[in-house]
Amino acid sequence: MLLEEMLQHNVQFMEKGTHTSGRGKDFPNKNAVILTCMEIQLDELLPKALGLNSGDVQFIRNAGAILTEPDDSVMRSLLIAVYELRADEIFVIGHHDCWLNGFRPEGILERMKVQGITEEEMSKFSDKSNLADWLRGFDQAKEGIKTSVQNIENHPLMPEDTPVHGLLINTDSGKLDIVVNGY
Ligand SMILES: [Zn+2]
Repeated sequence: MLLEEMLQHNVQFMEKGTHTSGRGKDFPNKNAVILTCMEIQLDELLPKALGLNSGDVQFIRNAGAILTEPDDSVMRSLLIAVYELRADEIFVIGHHDCWLNGFRPEGILERMKVQGITEEEMSKFSDKSNLADWLRGFDQAKEGIKTSVQNIENHPLMPEDTPVHGLLINTDSGKLDIVVNGY
């Protein structure tokens, strides 16, 4: 079991005593926050390709770096980063081969039914928004990034002078392309 593996590792980690507290370093060195995809290929690639070290920026990650709703928890995190954690600019970074590219939610809806989620529970949840639309991805990675950038820029609570950039990275080559230059 993964949990047991983690707990066992943690015992060894504590015995080594190599960890020093990071307290007092609460703000990112480069005063920026990055919203990116939860894709695992980006874990190693993104800091390397962008020249970022640990502690340079804050990362917020979700499926596809998608931000659609003004009351989305990602938006809440961005506002906290800007107002509380000294982030002066925002980067939305997607990747060309994103799993959310052209993603259709029908498969998830089917699997929910197999797991015993009833139609009633689904419709109760989607009182607020259509469940399928809510789960849907984007038709083109570029458009997905543009939409997220626009939704952040146009948010009524976001300061107007906060640049919001949109970028796409190629996970094969590591090349970064600008979709929106926020300056
Ligand atoms: Zn992705």
